[in-house]
Amino acid sequence: MSLIVANCREYGPMLHVRDILNNFKKFILRGNVLDLAVGVMMGSAFTAVVNALVKDLMTPIVGAIVKTPNLSELTLTIRGSTIMYGDFVSALVSFLIIAASIYFFVIIPMNMFVERIRGPQEPNPTTKKCPECKSEIPIDATRCAHCAIQLP
Ligand SMILES: [Zn+2]
Repeated sequence: MSLIVANCREYGPMLHVRDILNNFKKFILRGNVLDLAVGVMMGSAFTAVVNALVKDLMTPIVGAIVKTPNLSELTLTIRGSTIMYGDFVSALVSFLIIAASIYFFVIIPMNMFVERIRGPQEPNPTTKKCPECKSEIPIDATRCAHCAIQLP
């Protein structure tokens, strides 16, 4: 394989297997792809579950509190106009549950997972602190620009 790869490098465009894999890894780990995939997956999968949760559990509980079997039946009629605030409240509750579920069960674990793959971020400092006057000076300075002490 190394011979083929070497030939590709010599005669063709950059076609190193490791380069391609590295680029692919970078592309995946940028987070955009994960976010998008998570969005699409959750949008379809969670909606059904949360709708069922709201319809089967939340609505009856709220309905029991406000003594109405169906939250959607909570309406106000003003001069022939029907304001279906019960329906709106159940949609709002669904949205809040979806948002909270995605945050706690997808975003947080996924961020931890990505963090673990990436490993600790290495800071790449270009300056350091003078031990004498505590001002920021270039990392490779041998004499402080501010207090002029000799640095090791
Ligand atoms: Zn100094």
